[in-house]
Amino acid sequence: KKERVLVSACLLGYPIRYDGSDKKISDELIDRLKNSAEVISACPEMLGGLPCPRLASEQQSHTGKVIASDGRDISVFFRLGAHETLNICKNYGIRVAVLKSKSPSCGKGFIYDGSFTGQLTKGEGITSRLLSENGIKIFNESEVSQAIEKIRGK
Ligand code: SF4
Repeated sequence: KKERVLVSACLLGYPIRYDGSDKKISDELIDRLKNSAEVISACPEMLGGLPCPRLASEQQSHTGKVIASDGRDISVFFRLGAHETLNICKNYGIRVAVLKSKSPSCGKGFIYDGSFTGQLTKGEGITSRLLSENGIKIFNESEVSQAIEKIRGK
């Protein structure tokens, strides 16, 4: 059975970021991913019920809450989206995900610090953390080669 890999939808070119843009990686990288696994796309924020476009949001490092740029606590949408994304992974037996860096949902290692000033801090996006806790190995868009090695069992 062919392995499946979860990829942030914005990295595949879907214009579903908060401002209606995408963050498409190169066709070559997408082709390499498709050659090693069936690519399943997901946007945790859309799965959580947020609209597009939507306000920018960041995770507050001291509370872990996700706050929109108008000050509203929108953590509930992020939690729902994380669980929906985990369900997709479980249904497909996904072990590896390539998620967009720095996002309050998809980021891994470093995310924006909640001050809306472009400052990064150590931390995990809400979805990235939930998937990691469930044994899924997370890579970002600069680690596609490592993700492919992991899929191939190296
Ligand atoms: Fe991309 Fe993830 Fe943000 Fe959706 S939630 S736009 S997939 S970074």
